[in-house]
Amino acid sequence: MRTDILHIGAGELNYEIRNIVCVGEKLQKLGVQVNWENIGDPIAKGEQVPDWMKEIVAEAVREDTSYAYSPTKGLLSAREYVAACTNRMGGVQIDADDVIFFNGLGDAISKVFGFLKPTARVIVPTPSYTTHSSAEAAHASDQPVTYILDPNHLWYPDLEDIENHIKYNPAVAGILVINPDNPTGAVYPADVMRAIVEICEKNDLFIICDEIYQNMTYNGTVSAPLCTVIGDKVPAICMRGISKEMPWPGSRCGWIEVYNRHRDPMFATYVQSILNAKMLEVCSTTLPQTVLPRIKEHPMYPVHLKNRIKRYERYSNIAYDILKNVKGLLVNRTNGAFYMSAVFEEGLLNHHQTLPIGNDEVRETIERLVSGPNIQPDKRFVYYLLASTGICVVPLSSFATDLQGFRIT
Ligand code: PLP
Repeated sequence: MRTDILHIGAGELNYEIRNIVCVGEKLQKLGVQVNWENIGDPIAKGEQVPDWMKEIVAEAVREDTSYAYSPTKGLLSAREYVAACTNRMGGVQIDADDVIFFNGLGDAISKVFGFLKPTARVIVPTPSYTTHSSAEAAHASDQPVTYILDPNHLWYPDLEDIENHIKYNPAVAGILVINPDNPTGAVYPADVMRAIVEICEKNDLFIICDEIYQNMTYNGTVSAPLCTVIGDKVPAICMRGISKEMPWPGSRCGWIEVYNRHRDPMFATYVQSILNAKMLEVCSTTLPQTVLPRIKEHPMYPVHLKNRIKRYERYSNIAYDILKNVKGLLVNRTNGAFYMSAVFEEGLLNHHQTLPIGNDEVRETIERLVSGPNIQPDKRFVYYLLASTGICVVPLSSFATDLQGFRIT
């Protein structure tokens, strides 16, 4: 090349949640029966789309308007619906202009971080849903700036750690919160959310809050949506979508809601730059926006969601009851989403080689994959576990953390 064209190296953006699928598929060809506990796709994991939902989508497919472009922000009807849902929660009030649809939150995340000045940093949790931490790191061509989620305190954010980052790093401009959280399954109570808002207000920071799992809580827990605690001072971007809740991950439909945009002219310009970037793409998928209000207002929707959440509660509590008794593993009961993170204490990690692998070809394949010098020990463990038992989980170290362990879905 005439000149250096690389913003980041090929190996630097690494999405282990999907990388491990290739490994699992390789092993399947060698006869291993794989249980896919690595990915948060309810449909891929066997959940059925109810007939009434398919009927609504089929009806929209028959309407000519579903085939047109929408305004760049999204269909007005969908944006009005989303704004009304947020306003009903009784906190900050927004209108359709404060809502922008994206092709899934993955698209929103890359634009929200991609259009931040490289020297402006958003502190992200550790462990962190990789799309956020990678997008934040990539925009700055640096390592992510992280605050601790404490496994010894229900995976709640360590507020002191957040305050220290702000104090000693003048580049920090915002904080990312994921509530309910991926990969820990933690749900933060209102006082934790209020404390984060207060820190932002005191230090003139904005908030990005990913609430894609907001309506997916259990064990008697409810999440405190940002709109109900933010008040009218702190500018924020709240992210929601339908991939998990509806669930319709293949729709590629998510949106951002902008709160208190006019508190800060620079923040308002930043949001406008995200919208301008979206214009290059014209708009997001319109079919899911067309059906969003129809599906969510269908009388069966709350029943459908409640039944699914009951199932997650049951599965999560079974997983917790088993894993909490494994010596050398630290786990917390989860209260939301469908992930649990288990942390290895010293010792257990090194037992990977004692896991029995009957098939020599499978053993050789795995050994080849984890033989490099820079392989994290938990990745080694997870690959051996896959080869030995067919259980496919994700190494915790791939979620922007120094902790060793795994995330199970
Ligand atoms: N945010 C969180 C916390 C997630 O867990 C996921 C997917 O796993 C996403 C965003 C991406 O969602 P989407 O399917 O809308 O791109």
